[in-house]
Amino acid sequence: ASGVLVYCRSGFEGEAAQELDTVAAHAGVAGFARTERGAGFAEFVLVEPMPAEALLQAIGWPRLVFARQAVAVLDQLKGLPREDRLTPLLAELPTDFAVADAWVESPDTDDGKALTAFCRSFGNALVQALKRDARLVRDSPWRLHALFPHGDRCFLAVAHTALCAPWPLGIPRLKFPRNAPSRSTLKLDEAIQVLLTPGERERWFKSGMTAVDLGAAPGGWTWQLVRRALHVTAVDNGPMQEELMAGGHVTHLREDGFRYQPKRRVDWMVCDMVEQPRRVAERMGEWLAEGWCQRSIFNLKLPMKKRYTEVQQAFERIHALVHRRGGQVELRAKQLYHDREEITVFARVLAEK
Ligand code: SAM
Repeated sequence: ASGVLVYCRSGFEGEAAQELDTVAAHAGVAGFARTERGAGFAEFVLVEPMPAEALLQAIGWPRLVFARQAVAVLDQLKGLPREDRLTPLLAELPTDFAVADAWVESPDTDDGKALTAFCRSFGNALVQALKRDARLVRDSPWRLHALFPHGDRCFLAVAHTALCAPWPLGIPRLKFPRNAPSRSTLKLDEAIQVLLTPGERERWFKSGMTAVDLGAAPGGWTWQLVRRALHVTAVDNGPMQEELMAGGHVTHLREDGFRYQPKRRVDWMVCDMVEQPRRVAERMGEWLAEGWCQRSIFNLKLPMKKRYTEVQQAFERIHALVHRRGGQVELRAKQLYHDREEITVFARVLAEK
């Protein structure tokens, strides 16, 4: 592969590029990140080509905060003829190359969305052509990606199923639940799908577990926890949806979410209060350091310019607070599809005090 391509939210290309540079330097992978503002993707260009699997392993999509997807670039094709884009694309594939599937995508931007219909039909044509050439092998761990920033330009890339996001454009398809109290319900649902493995989802959401939701009103996040059979203490001065309260699994406390402290340790604490990331990180760190919760999912709003640095500082602060109490914490975070100027973080206490 000649580089890595990451897909990101439009406007976050700078952060995605900065993160690629940092992670690559850390992994000893030589190259440089480049991007264009508003493109919806960033590229890390290698100095020397590298095997795709080793490269994807070194970059580690699950650990990237600003990347919805990371794929290994084989080639970039420019000036593709409108009449036949398929022939030049197929000609670029290595001879002994086989994949389990092929996805044709365009960035999650206004320009990209205009190419959606083309991507669908071209995707069908590409899969048919790969089948015809016996290049489609069901048990291959590889998937071919063709990302079209424009109709005549395309990145040809591969994803490894164990190392990359399993959703087109790195966006899980979630349906808005009919009776959920707010749109933000999808944010927590997406965080649970993206930040946790299937096994973790099963182990960590069990009937009868307890949760605290800070800044809960009107109850979109609480709704997700109740749906997973948890008992929830919802802390907010604002009103909760009546239907959700009527279910009997929620206790509503009209208190300050920054001061509330649970009487007993809870399995989960979630927090969607709109506040400075520093202040949120401080309080989340305190919850984790004190062992008031086992696991947490919270938002860090990032309306400022230096978003990458702000995130690093928030993480360092949380680690420091937990270390000081002799504990250890694992942090995973993503800028999710349902996140706007913010990221969502999963945290869990690793070592008991
Ligand atoms: N997660 C909610 C949902 O899915 O429906 C939406 C939460 S909304 C973005 C933020 C909430 O935080 C508001 O309801 C607001 O009242 C609450 N909030 C802000 N500061 C708070 C504080 N200090 N204590 C408690 N709630 C607070």
